[in-house]
Amino acid sequence: MTNTPDRAITSQRVVTPEGVRAAAVLIKGEKILNVIPIENTPETCPIDDMENNVIMPGLVDIHVHINEPGRTDWEGYETATRAAGSGGITTLVDMPLNCIPVTTTVKAFEIKLESTYNKLWVDCGYYGGLIPENLDDMKPLVKSGVLGFKAFMSHSGIDEFPKVSETDLRSALSILANYDLPLLVHAELEDHSNHGKDLHTYESYLATRPKSWENNAIKLLIELCKEYQTPIHIVHLSSSEALDDITQAQKEGLPISAETCPHYLHFISEKITDGDTRFKCAPPIRDNENKKQLWEGLISGTIDFITSDHSPCLPELKKLSEGKFDLAWGGISSLQLSLPVIWTECIDQGLSFGQLANWMSNNPAKFVGIDHCKGQISAGYDADLVCWNPEESFVVEPTMINFKNKITPYEGEKLFGIVKRTYLRGNKIFDRGQFVNGPLGRSILNSDAEKN
Ligand SMILES: [Zn+2]
Repeated sequence: MTNTPDRAITSQRVVTPEGVRAAAVLIKGEKILNVIPIENTPETCPIDDMENNVIMPGLVDIHVHINEPGRTDWEGYETATRAAGSGGITTLVDMPLNCIPVTTTVKAFEIKLESTYNKLWVDCGYYGGLIPENLDDMKPLVKSGVLGFKAFMSHSGIDEFPKVSETDLRSALSILANYDLPLLVHAELEDHSNHGKDLHTYESYLATRPKSWENNAIKLLIELCKEYQTPIHIVHLSSSEALDDITQAQKEGLPISAETCPHYLHFISEKITDGDTRFKCAPPIRDNENKKQLWEGLISGTIDFITSDHSPCLPELKKLSEGKFDLAWGGISSLQLSLPVIWTECIDQGLSFGQLANWMSNNPAKFVGIDHCKGQISAGYDADLVCWNPEESFVVEPTMINFKNKITPYEGEKLFGIVKRTYLRGNKIFDRGQFVNGPLGRSILNSDAEKN
């Protein structure tokens, strides 16, 4: 009787590694038991019929800033993971800043893990931070379970998370060479000639962070990757000019990867209103031609996947009334909206559900080493599923937003794709606008973590 499913979830459009097809996803406990033709569903098996809604593997968003503990008024585990669940995300990975303390020591990591207690609505992994002072903390952080390390080559936005030098990067890479964990890098090399004040127009802000900052940082990272042969990941790529170098490095077999974000794939600088600091992020959103090339980079595989880089703050820190880009906090909140934003762009370009699932689920799961259990609808995988209607549209309004501070540049955008239901390891956690059964999320630690 061990192979009797608890339940079948059926749909005319299930996104499997073999293609999109009508299927019944059989669930046993927390796992997918099998994926079979609907007509073969055992007669006594309870069925959740999702009809013509698309069933995809739950999204895996490996770049999220949750800010708890310490800046929980910006965002916390409860609000962030509920927002994630309502957007079809079933696994996320939290960045080592802007919480207090920043996650650069084992003690800070323990405090963070404690702060998640009974608040996780989806599964959650964590990165350690790499700063100039904490090279000795890296190994203990690996043993504590972080999924990688994050470093900045430019000012991070907060003084307690200083940027690293090339020497620091070298030391860190020689340590990481002993483990199979990536170094994630904010790749902008500052050139101080560009600092500006009183930046009201978007164009003036854009001019302070030129593509050359990213291009130069990425050239250096490729050199280091060649030397140390250790995985380096470029977070939130915005400069399309760096794509050729990354492609070339990947062709040479270097372990270098890149992500980009919905805001770079959806917005264009030509249409950003002067003074609208909701659009401030770093690196900045660039022009339409750049956006097109990022899409080409994604389709060709140079850019491996998409992350939200959900980076919230208190509304007043956006300095909207002053409209000055130099004063505003840089970061865009979008956690719950990634799927409809990207899908809306996919419709325009005739891209498929399979590509979407690779960019938002399968590839990011691989990146953090959880692709044995997350990121695809196949027998033996966690029953993490998002059921959504790609034909239905909505207009983004603050009242529908589930993350803590509702300020987002997506307000007023018409998007296609409404999440109807989300399952986490076989349990319904979000059902037609309601949060149910949670919080059932768990912390995900790396496979080197020492068990207590
Ligand atoms: Zn970030």
